[in-house]
Amino acid sequence: MEKFDIAIIGAGILGTTISYWLSTLYDLNVCVIEKENDVAKHTSSRNTG
Ligand SMILES: Cc1cc2nc3c(=O)[nH]c(=O)nc-3n(C[C@H](O)[C@H](O)[C@H](O)COP(=O)(O)OP(=O)(O)OC[C@H]3O[C@@H](n4cnc5c(N)ncnc54)[C@H](O)[C@@H]3O)c2cc1C
Repeated sequence: MEKFDIAIIGAGILGTTISYWLSTLYDLNVCVIEKENDVAKHTSSRNTG
């Protein structure tokens, strides 16, 4: 089984951004666990901005 240093639940704007910066700035193995079949399926793609 593959091992990770950090697991982030949810691939909205927060989960994807935090995982990007953690894996860019530090030597960490990060996984993002998302229940949908793609990223940003909920609030992050439905807001007014
Ligand atoms: C109507 C509206 C308008 C807005 N307008 C603006 C705006 O103009 N400007 C602005 O900056 N912000 C705005 N916001 C706020 C902004 O959109 C949210 O704060 C932001 O998108 C939240 O991102 P998030 O990653 O926390 O959540 P989400 O985008 O909801 O992501 C959470 C993810 O977690 C996943 N998830 C949940 N439970 C589990 C589980 N048990 N296992 C695996 N995955 C799971 C979901 O499927 C989802 O993909 C608005 C919000 C709303 C509702």
